[in-house]
Amino acid sequence: MDCVFCKIASGEINSKIIFENEDVIAFNDLNPQAPTHILIVPKRHIDSLIKAKEEDIELLGKIQYAAKLIAEKFKIEHFRLVANNGSKAGQSVFHIHYHFLSGRRLMWPPG
Ligand code: 5GP
Ligand code: ZN
Repeated sequence: MDCVFCKIASGEINSKIIFENEDVIAFNDLNPQAPTHILIVPKRHIDSLIKAKEEDIELLGKIQYAAKLIAEKFKIEHFRLVANNGSKAGQSVFHIHYHFLSGRRLMWPPG
C-alpha cells in the first residue's frame, strides 16, 4: 500500500523516532504546529478513526497510552492529543494518527 506512515513504520522512510513499541510508533511531524508536535501512529494500517473496528479497541487504547508514556518521558504536563477524521476536519494522511502538541498555549476552541 502506498502509505507514507506505513513506510515510516516499516523504516522505508527515515524519520526521527520519538517512541516505539510492538504496536505503536511516534515521530516528529514534518510541518510542526507547536514546539513539540509528535505524531503517534499504530504500525498496523487503519485509514481513520471512523474505519476502526471493535477489534481495534485495544490498539486505540495503546495509542493513548503511548501519549502518556511520551509525556512522562519528556516531562510534559500540558499537551493536546487530537485525531483529525476526514478531510474537512483536517485529515490529510489516511493512516490513523494522533497529534501530540505541546510547548505553546493551545487555543480552545480550535479553529
Ligand atoms: P493530518 O492532516 O492528516 O491530521 O496530519 C498529517 C500530518 O502528517 C501533518 O501534520 C503533516 O505535516 C504530517 N506529515 C505528512 N507527511 C509526513 C512525512 O512524510 N513525515 C512526517 N514526519 N510527517 C508528515
Ligand atoms: Zn498506512
